[in-house]
Amino acid sequence: MPYSAPVVSRLAPTPSGYLHLGNAVNFLLTWLIVRRVYGVLHLRIDDLDRARLRPAYLENIFRTIDWLGIDYDHGPSGPEDFERNFSQLHHLAEYEALLQALRQKPGLLYACRCSRTQIQSQANGGIYSGSCQPQNLDFEAPESAWRAHVGASTIVSFTDLWLGPVALELSRELGDFVVRKKDGLPAYQIGSIVDDVRLGVTLIVRGVDLLPSTAAQRWLAGFTPDTSPFLQTRLVHHSLLPGPDGGKLSKSQQQPLDRGIMHESTSPRPVFEAVARLLNLPLEAGRSLAALRAAFENAAIS
Ligand SMILES: [Zn+2]
Repeated sequence: MPYSAPVVSRLAPTPSGYLHLGNAVNFLLTWLIVRRVYGVLHLRIDDLDRARLRPAYLENIFRTIDWLGIDYDHGPSGPEDFERNFSQLHHLAEYEALLQALRQKPGLLYACRCSRTQIQSQANGGIYSGSCQPQNLDFEAPESAWRAHVGASTIVSFTDLWLGPVALELSRELGDFVVRKKDGLPAYQIGSIVDDVRLGVTLIVRGVDLLPSTAAQRWLAGFTPDTSPFLQTRLVHHSLLPGPDGGKLSKSQQQPLDRGIMHESTSPRPVFEAVARLLNLPLEAGRSLAALRAAFENAAIS
């Protein structure tokens, strides 16, 4: 991968479950790429979803990073430092400023008062029907979410460093997605764009399951000058690891007793081996972090 500017990337976990193998693989891949190009790595924890946050999940993020043997250059040193200095709750004014700027764009945002049940009953393939859009409901009415109106056939295209050229039809992938939740807090897409721009992120390494979010974020970022640097961010969407049932692993699928990868495995070696497989490196590269790093740094990168 040819880089002309310093690479700035981030690990961006959410403390809504114990980190599983897929999260650990993403952390390790990100770390390997950033270290290979002498870049800067941030730890930026996405805690806007306060309802699902548990102290044990927050703690688990730091423990998993230590367990893997990787490091980062900027970010919280632990849960206490995180809450005091890094929580997204300290940046609500910035998120709100973006939401207000987007609200000024004619026809871009609208208020939606649908209940969860209404949304499910109208939804077509998981896509919200847009029934509130023509009604011009009051943005400030209680219990209103704000949605972005994605016009039919809105295509977002970019070149991904892992996948090559990507084109997603946002209207089919996500439809009119929520940018501000009913509780008045910004939705994930808003927090993610604003944080990445503030940190000067130039490279995002994500699983392919986040492609629709990437498309939503690139589309939204194009509407205001403050967020336009996001469009310069380089993207790596890596393959996912199959779960036990062949499906992808997600934190929300975890059983209550699922304590995450650190409890499933006595050593991080399965993570190293999974990354070696994803990168098409010899399996013996997965025997240790040092071996993996050496194999990756010596490998030709296409
Ligand atoms: Zn609605």
